[in-house]
Amino acid sequence: MGGRNPFAASRKRAPAPGNPFAPAEAAGNKYGAKKTTCAAGHLHDSKAEARRCNELHLLQRGGAIVGLEQQPEFKFTVDGRPVMLDNGQQARLRADFAYVENGRKVVEDRKGVIVRDFPLRWALARTLWPEIDWRVV
Ligand SMILES: [Zn+2]
Repeated sequence: MGGRNPFAASRKRAPAPGNPFAPAEAAGNKYGAKKTTCAAGHLHDSKAEARRCNELHLLQRGGAIVGLEQQPEFKFTVDGRPVMLDNGQQARLRADFAYVENGRKVVEDRKGVIVRDFPLRWALARTLWPEIDWRVV
């Protein structure tokens, strides 16, 4: 072994606030999130996310950020091996947005819509890609 062990750091941490064990399918209704279309025509999971997308498009137009991406995905590997779920899919984090600001990649997600095991996925992603600036907004 050696190299990265994504579980090493998280063992010392206190549990994340909120309820990470709430069922994923309940998240949409429970928090009143309503699918909303942004000015660029994407269908977003909530009004807040669509508003943020509009802001990010303005920032990109003004040159403050570049390379805006929707729903970037990060597939997990540990020591070079894919982390496979029982359903045959590779474990992953899907965030709301990614972009480059001042030469550094930023990944953004909104707190508020807490889906099952999001805290663990977020922690894994931060550990596996430490060069990225991970922001919960
Ligand atoms: Zn959008």
